[in-house]
Amino acid sequence: MSLDLDVSTDGVLTADTHLVQSWANLHALKQDGARTVIVAADGAFVFDSEGNRLIDGIGGLWCVNAGHRRREIIDAITTQLETLDFYSTFYNFTHPPAAALAAKLAELAPGPLNKVHFSSSGSDANDGAVRILHHYFNRLGRPAKKKVLSRHGAYHGSTHLAIAMTTPGYSEGWDRAEGLVHHLRCPHYWREGDGMSEAEFLDALLDDLRDTIERIGAENIACYIAEPIMGAGGVIVPPEGYHRAMAAICRDNEIKYIADEVVTAFGRLGHFFASEAVFGVQPDIITVAKGVTSGYQPLAATILSDEIHEVVSSPGGMFFHGMTYSGHPAGAAAGLANIGLMESERIPERVRTSGRRFEAGLRALGDLDMVGEVRGSHFMMGIEFVRDKADKTPFAPEELVGLKVAQAAQKRGLVARPLGNILILSPTLVMDDATIDRCAGILRESIAEVAAHV
Ligand code: PMP
Repeated sequence: MSLDLDVSTDGVLTADTHLVQSWANLHALKQDGARTVIVAADGAFVFDSEGNRLIDGIGGLWCVNAGHRRREIIDAITTQLETLDFYSTFYNFTHPPAAALAAKLAELAPGPLNKVHFSSSGSDANDGAVRILHHYFNRLGRPAKKKVLSRHGAYHGSTHLAIAMTTPGYSEGWDRAEGLVHHLRCPHYWREGDGMSEAEFLDALLDDLRDTIERIGAENIACYIAEPIMGAGGVIVPPEGYHRAMAAICRDNEIKYIADEVVTAFGRLGHFFASEAVFGVQPDIITVAKGVTSGYQPLAATILSDEIHEVVSSPGGMFFHGMTYSGHPAGAAAGLANIGLMESERIPERVRTSGRRFEAGLRALGDLDMVGEVRGSHFMMGIEFVRDKADKTPFAPEELVGLKVAQAAQKRGLVARPLGNILILSPTLVMDDATIDRCAGILRESIAEVAAHV
């Protein structure tokens, strides 16, 4: 049965007046009604309701890693739904796809990360990581060990707990759980380096962590959470050696290390997981979502070390955590098929070449006057625009420079994501070389067009 949807621009936008958009300026949307209606997708491209084919430069939302409309994933979901549409993983129930995906993630995740709790989104995977660690320390008889260390610039989601760990700038006018989370300095050398050498800046970041631990007391801190490369905070790559050094300080203070790999896992940086392979860190917990199913189904996971699991599964406790859709059969089937595809097509390995090509193409835009910094790695890139390149003076927010460049790019066939003065690119991992090069070409023309008017 086909749903027989109205896919015309007008038809969709009329119905859409009832949809509350996520992470949007709702007032501006109400005023100008402007939206891009995406009606179809294929490979590295999406199609809008006006018939335009656009390069999907944001990979859905940093998630369609294997590309759109992959038959293998669609068939696996359909077959699973025909066999077992739904059963939960509560109490003593399990089912084949959830068990198999847990085993596969345990095989791929680094070191002793062998126990997998499923959920539906990156936000609740992070939320769950903290809840589980709180319970872990309760079980160890250390109930005071509860505070969470995060960082300015971080994005960990928008549940009440995940937003508290996210950078404070992303909840202006909204309430946050107070007192639980402390935000450390943002490791962005170009913006925050303040005349220091990179090595001095790294020392300052580590001192910030040490000072914070001393002030709060290690006995009161449960965990530290960090994205290997900050994503929605502006694609921020920390100084060389930062993650290893932060992890060592955490370990010395019995502070558990949560790596939020919601964006960086499943090939975006050329590996299934980035923590160990790229940054040399062995976390206690890794959270994933997005690329685990390439976005075909909402599925996330909180991957725990054997040691944490041992404590929370010891006699006398109860695991009071989980959602109806934890390990949903269709989501787990999508994850298995997606990972199967990534293995058989060697997608992570290929990203080590194609992603470098993409990165180099974007870095070359650094010669443009309006471009202050091009940063990121492989298929996770950001371009920050500045009014004055010499002193890094930003454009005023009301100049909407990121948005204008994104609009100019979309007109030329590339979807990119504006974030204030930054443009984010996180495409599918399956673009051919010509499409990769086309992205850089479109961006150069688009930036030049906007530069002529600001
Ligand atoms: N962590 C990171 C690093 C993310 O980028 C995101 C989403 N962009 C999340 C967590 C939250 O994931 P979700 O939107 O699936 O809740």
